[in-house]
Amino acid sequence: MQTLSVIVPCYNEEAVIQEFYKRTKDVFLSLKGIDSSIIFINDGSKDDTKYMLSFIAAQDPKVKVIHFSRNFGHQPAVTAGINNCDSDYAVIIDADLQDPPELIPDMIETLKKEEASVVYCIRKERKGETFFKKLTAKLFYKTMNNLSEVEFPRDTGDFRLIDRKAITAFNSLKEKGKYIRGLITWIGFKQVPFYYSRDARFAGETKYPLKKMLSFAKRAMLYFSKKPLMLSVSLGTAAFVIGIVYGLWVWLSYLFGFSDAVTGWASTVIIIIFFGGVQLLTIGVLGQYIGVLFDEVKNRPEYIVDEKINFEE
Ligand code: UDP
Ligand code: MG
Repeated sequence: MQTLSVIVPCYNEEAVIQEFYKRTKDVFLSLKGIDSSIIFINDGSKDDTKYMLSFIAAQDPKVKVIHFSRNFGHQPAVTAGINNCDSDYAVIIDADLQDPPELIPDMIETLKKEEASVVYCIRKERKGETFFKKLTAKLFYKTMNNLSEVEFPRDTGDFRLIDRKAITAFNSLKEKGKYIRGLITWIGFKQVPFYYSRDARFAGETKYPLKKMLSFAKRAMLYFSKKPLMLSVSLGTAAFVIGIVYGLWVWLSYLFGFSDAVTGWASTVIIIIFFGGVQLLTIGVLGQYIGVLFDEVKNRPEYIVDEKINFEE
C-alpha cells in the first residue's frame, strides 16, 4: 500500500487547526488505496496550538506532531516535516486552509498520470489578500526570476506534492538557509503545474508580517543569485569611466582655460559623496553574502526538536 504524509507548519494557529484536521481527514477517506497521515510541526507557538496538536495526536495515531523548542520559522518547519517523512508521497500545505486540502486527490492523480515527481500548485487567484501583499509578491517573483540562475514558476508557494525521489533529493541538500520552493525547482526531475484558486485564510491572521516577508525575500535572493555581487563590478566600472572623463575635462579646461573648475569645491564634495555611496553599497552587498557564509559555516542545525509524537523510532 502506498503512503502519503501531509506536512503542515503551524505557528499560533489555534483558530484553524480543528477545521484543518477535520477537512483533511475527510479528504483521506476519499483517498482509497493510500495510507495517509498528517505531520504537524508546531513552530514554537505561543497560543494553544501545542496542546491542541498533542490532544489530536493522542486520539489519532495517524497524526504525527513535532514540537520545536522555539519559533524557527516557516521554512525550517517545512524542512523538519520533509526530513521526518517516510512516506512515498508528501504534500506541503499551510494550516490556514488558504490551500484547500480537497485538491490533494487531483494532485496525486496528476502526478501519476504525468509520471512526474513534483506537482507544484499555481495560484490563479488569491482571495482575501491585501493589494500590498499581492503587489510585493508579484515584484518579488519577477525580481527573483531575473536574478536567479534557476527559472522559478511564478505565483507558486510551497503548496505542492512531491514523491520519494524528490524527498530523498531534498534531504540530501546540506545548506542550512533553505528557500524550499527554489530548492525543489532546483532538484529537477519531471515537475508539472496544477492551477487552483487560493482561498482567504480560514481564521486568525497572517503569520508573515512585513519583517518576515523581507527576510524571506532576502534569503531567496542571497541563496539563489550571485548577481548582486556583480553590482560592485558594474558600479565600479561606471565610476571609473566617470572619473576618467571628468579628469580629462579638468585637464583640457586647464590647458585651454575654458573653465575655473579647479577652484570649485562643490564638485569635490559631490564626488566624495558619490564614491562614498558606491563603496558603502558594494561593501554592504558583500557583507550580506559574508553573513550567509558565516551562518552556514557555523553549521548549526536548522531547528531544535522538543518533542516528537507518534513517530516510530
Ligand atoms: N508559519 C510557521 N512559522 C512562522 C510563520 C508561519 O510555521 O514563523 C506557518 C503558518 O502557521 C502557516 C504557514 O506557515 O501554516 C504560512 O503562514 P501564513 O498563512 O501566515 O502566511 P501567508 O499565507 O499570510 O503568506
Ligand atoms: Mg496563509
